[in-house]
Amino acid sequence: MILNQLAPYACRSENSRGRRYDEEAPVGRTQFQRDRDRIVHCNAFRRLEYKTQVFVNHEGDLFRTRLTHSLEVAQIARTLARNLQVNEDLVEAISLAHDLGHTPFGHAGQDELNDSMNQRVPEAGGFEHNLQSLRVVDELEERYASFNGLNLCFETREGILKHCSRRNAQRLGDVGERFLNRTRPSIEAQIANLADEIAYNNHDIDDGLRSGLITVDQLCELELFVTHFEGVQRRYPDVQGRRLTSEIIRAMINTLVIDLTQTTLANLAEHKPASVDDVRQAPQLVAFSSSMRKQADELKRFLHENLYRHYRVMRMMNKARTIVRELFSAFLDEPRLLPDDYRRDDALAQARAIADYIAGMTDRYAISEHRKLFQM
Ligand code: MG
Repeated sequence: MILNQLAPYACRSENSRGRRYDEEAPVGRTQFQRDRDRIVHCNAFRRLEYKTQVFVNHEGDLFRTRLTHSLEVAQIARTLARNLQVNEDLVEAISLAHDLGHTPFGHAGQDELNDSMNQRVPEAGGFEHNLQSLRVVDELEERYASFNGLNLCFETREGILKHCSRRNAQRLGDVGERFLNRTRPSIEAQIANLADEIAYNNHDIDDGLRSGLITVDQLCELELFVTHFEGVQRRYPDVQGRRLTSEIIRAMINTLVIDLTQTTLANLAEHKPASVDDVRQAPQLVAFSSSMRKQADELKRFLHENLYRHYRVMRMMNKARTIVRELFSAFLDEPRLLPDDYRRDDALAQARAIADYIAGMTDRYAISEHRKLFQM
């Protein structure tokens, strides 16, 4: 990227607030490129391939996994970053890392791990996947001789931490500050956050249709969908099936990206941030127009009611919860069942290490561990 093409409100690698441990500057790439490269090379990134987005990994080869989801987020985020003249390398790094802390089995896995932690070891502070993503890059990866974690730049870590309670913000130091003084993150972090939403809303429609759990007829209740359904039918009266739905989905992604770009450009023109600090003090700048926000919310609600709570998804998630709950209890009751690396002397540290171990599992690894512990 040619640096002078970046807008004044963009994050620049050379102005980064730096890494937790000092390192020599990279040669031949920027600090944010180095962060992106470190993320792509880490173990947690490769595990995303075998972690559930909505459908458990073995249900079908064409469904999204956390890995393909993260790639789609990065692709959408890069387009937005280029449109808005901000740092593409930083949005890519944040996008590729944003789900590193996800448990196996999607939200069911995270909810159960949080419930198990709160019920069995209430003083340990529960489990939250977004916080865990930061923990993966700050503490858990073991790849470098002189520090734990990936030692990423402040701006990448800030982007990974999308939300955070006040209690956690107080102990997190620099990346927690904005939750205490209620400022915004960089524009790159704001972009990655909304690119995530554009990606999952659209690919969950695609996967939902592919699985047969939702139908085109049902989706035609939604303004965003039916507008593009009619548009595609006008342009291609004979197109049907997968080609029809793919054309609708690509048109929806396009519309959302264009709306987000135009609304954000208008917000930038209004607030005129001249620096990254101005972005932090301004209201949220990256946003959909209010009519698009309403349509996107309607879509989210639809997916909640009709896909995420479909009885066939719920059955799978019920099994997933049982696996996570039973693994957590078995390890907590008898830490000698854990691999040596995960054994701790202190009770709170032990609970956290069990959560780290389970959160790091892929779907199939969790199923196999469960089998090893509970079946002869
Ligand atoms: Mg995501």
